[in-house]
Amino acid sequence: MENLIVIGSGPAGQTAAIYAGQANLKPLMFEGLMAGGIAAGGQLTTTTDIHNFPGFPDGVSGLELMFKMREQTLKSGVKILTETVEKVELDVNPFRVVSSSGTYETKTLIIANGAIAQRLGAKGEDQYWQKGVSACAVCDGGLPIFRNQHLVVIGGGDTAIEEALYLTKFARKVTMLVRRNVFRASKTMQAKAFHNAQIEIMWHTELAGILGDGKKITHLKIRNNQTNKLETIDVAGLFYALGHKPNTEMFKGQLEMDETGYLVTKPNSTMTNIPGVFAAGDVQDHVYRQAIVAAGSGCMAALEAERYLQI
Ligand SMILES: Cc1cc2nc3c(=O)[nH]c(=O)nc-3n(C[C@H](O)[C@H](O)[C@H](O)COP(=O)(O)OP(=O)(O)OC[C@H]3O[C@@H](n4cnc5c(N)ncnc54)[C@H](O)[C@@H]3O)c2cc1C
Repeated sequence: MENLIVIGSGPAGQTAAIYAGQANLKPLMFEGLMAGGIAAGGQLTTTTDIHNFPGFPDGVSGLELMFKMREQTLKSGVKILTETVEKVELDVNPFRVVSSSGTYETKTLIIANGAIAQRLGAKGEDQYWQKGVSACAVCDGGLPIFRNQHLVVIGGGDTAIEEALYLTKFARKVTMLVRRNVFRASKTMQAKAFHNAQIEIMWHTELAGILGDGKKITHLKIRNNQTNKLETIDVAGLFYALGHKPNTEMFKGQLEMDETGYLVTKPNSTMTNIPGVFAAGDVQDHVYRQAIVAAGSGCMAALEAERYLQI
């Protein structure tokens, strides 16, 4: 039986594992195998340089940062399984964690399996998914099909602007479709979008359908939500930047969640409604959604699990 199992390998899971490993708890980590379409290491593996993570005055690539965290996790005595957890049973003691290689029993559990990008469910979305429609500009933006083309980003937050800016490296023009007449993004990011001549912003605009030739996307149907006017525009790529959905499906009916599916933790702690089960990072954070916050809550979860094991 394990002392502690950590589910997830983003900044929250890695930090929890590092602390627990160094506390000699000999934790077992499930890092995921393209869980929810995201590589082990989590969401930071889908971005380029990070300039706000302390300790890297010149920035650090998301991949490199997560690689270094993983290396530190291993050096801290953590066993890592490159598998996705399929099921948990939390009404038994010890808890059970099921993956492709079997069922594992554990005294404590840290859930740090993050969040994934939201989709719109628009007409044509399934047909053209990965045929010009993507939720990750950084992963897909450099593909030849997008070079010197007109691309569209949907969303009005920091991620949307970040993705639009990134795409200007490859695209001829990037149009941002924004449902309201303001961005949700920070002022700094907004300024970057307004001052980039390659970025066009269409306010009060929503996606009405995705059209293509069967093999790839060619047009979008868009609607002005003030006038209801429909328009068809030529595009080669569509990138969703619509926020994230926490990976909490398998905890439904077992752990307390809010109305959008984020795990609920007790104030100033990572404790869930089940003693011995802790949640850290974006899976329980709909407010900050930042790597350093995820890492911080991973540290809290490990310290709380350690205390729980001593009781
Ligand atoms: C494009 C982009 C740019 C960003 N830029 C920044 C930035 O500059 N600075 C910053 O601070 N933050 C940034 N963020 C936010 C940051 O990435 C997240 O806040 C952070 O990664 C959350 O960490 P986490 O550990 O909670 O989860 P995640 O990073 O979401 O990692 C969760 C991991 O768990 C795995 N997993 C999921 N389900 C299972 C399962 N069932 N079994 C096993 N494993 C599973 C997933 O595959 C994933 O690897 C960015 C996010 C995005 C999308």
